[in-house]
Amino acid sequence: MTGEIIRVGVCGAAGRMGRTVVTAIAGADGLDLVTAIDTQEVGKDAGFLAGIGHIGVDICRDLLTALRETRTDVMVDFSLPDAVMDNAATALRAGVATVIGTTGLSQSDLEELDRLARQKNLGVFVAPNFAIGAVLLMQFAAQAARYMPDVEIIELHHENKLDSPSGTALLTAQKIGQARHQARVRPQPAPANTVQKAEGARGARDHKTCDVPVHSVRLPGFVAHQEVIFGGIGQTLTLRHDSMDRTSFMPGVILAVRRIGSLPGLTVGLENLLDLSG
Ligand code: NAP
Repeated sequence: MTGEIIRVGVCGAAGRMGRTVVTAIAGADGLDLVTAIDTQEVGKDAGFLAGIGHIGVDICRDLLTALRETRTDVMVDFSLPDAVMDNAATALRAGVATVIGTTGLSQSDLEELDRLARQKNLGVFVAPNFAIGAVLLMQFAAQAARYMPDVEIIELHHENKLDSPSGTALLTAQKIGQARHQARVRPQPAPANTVQKAEGARGARDHKTCDVPVHSVRLPGFVAHQEVIFGGIGQTLTLRHDSMDRTSFMPGVILAVRRIGSLPGLTVGLENLLDLSG
């Protein structure tokens, strides 16, 4: 990286998250927004699109050229599930550390990102959720699952979200599954004679959701929300997190950009950058 200043590129810069990231990077100490990439709004000023006025960084279409010409240190990707792997591979092969917020990556995608990053001795950081409250919710959910193994997840997002269930819900389910396994507790089996009169009524339930039913709601008005409901004899416990605004993710994104230079290989989850031991 060039001196103290980290040169940052934003991929997906014309999108909902991308515009918020542009605003956050442009206003952060020690970070310099040097390029903005998208397939939409090419040629327009990224700051103007983000609503912060002209910043002299136009949206480019060609990722590799943009990264090379601007000597980008760190690329932040909030594009789309179909595009993120190509973007990240291009950046890592070009020697650019990569922070990924785009969701929908599979286990084999993560393994491939780790391999590409290690080849170049670079960091690649992936977080399905950059909001500290959501990270804490996952931690609390894992704690509670040891004592209350009967649990379901409801995640609620805006109507344009492409992937379901959300990456956060899948990670929460995984953490609950691991906690139940370690504590050797199991949810109660459903009675044999239950009937689902409509497909999906009991939520998604497979190996990815670790046998924790996940219900996905997509409606206008929502940003990103999650409820984890535990049931016990004569009681329930509900944990809920609400991102009311996309700015909720920005402190986590900025932290990852600042730390990625000292994290070779793949790191998954904001909790790895925070001291949550207290
Ligand atoms: P969005 O508004 O659709 O923005 C995505 C942008 O990326 C669009 O402008 C899209 O253009 C562009 N794009 C598509 N392919 C591209 C490519 N190859 N190179 C560069 N740009 C490309 O979506 P969003 O709501 O901002 O969400 C983006 C991602 O962030 C989603 O996966 C979402 O789940 C995730 N997310 C993560 C967090 C977190 O904390 N980790 C929080 C919120 C959202 P087109 O319209 O032409 O495709």
